[in-house]
Amino acid sequence: MSATAEPSIFTRIIQGEIPADVVFDSERIIAFRDIAPKAPLHLLIVPKTDRFANVTELAAEDPALLAEIVAVAQNLATEYSGGEYRLIFNTGRSVGQTVFHVHAHLLGGLLPEGTLGE
Ligand code: AMP
Repeated sequence: MSATAEPSIFTRIIQGEIPADVVFDSERIIAFRDIAPKAPLHLLIVPKTDRFANVTELAAEDPALLAEIVAVAQNLATEYSGGEYRLIFNTGRSVGQTVFHVHAHLLGGLLPEGTLGE
């Protein structure tokens, strides 16, 4: 984050300034329920660092952290939705990204085929 940029909403959650329904918290990753769920299970998995705006930057600069996010996704899906899940990284405004602090949407729970769009 540049010296002048405002902290993202996710940084404010990580710092405890904004409440969230946290389901996982480790040294480098936090996960909480999306405030506007789009599936029976809708969690956000967020690295605590604000260095990466999107998954492309994360994959290029810290692939181990991306792999950790996937492992956390699998564990949370096992705990909350029978082990199966959909993982989405919106990357860019035109596809709906609104928070430019990389995060994975973990969706689960009876998503029929053909439901990628709304
Ligand atoms: P994206 O559109 O991929 O940037 O996703 C941002 C997500 O953050 C959206 O699904 C929002 O519903 C979610 N969101 C925004 N503010 C909060 C909040 N305070 N707590 C939980 N989820 C949030």
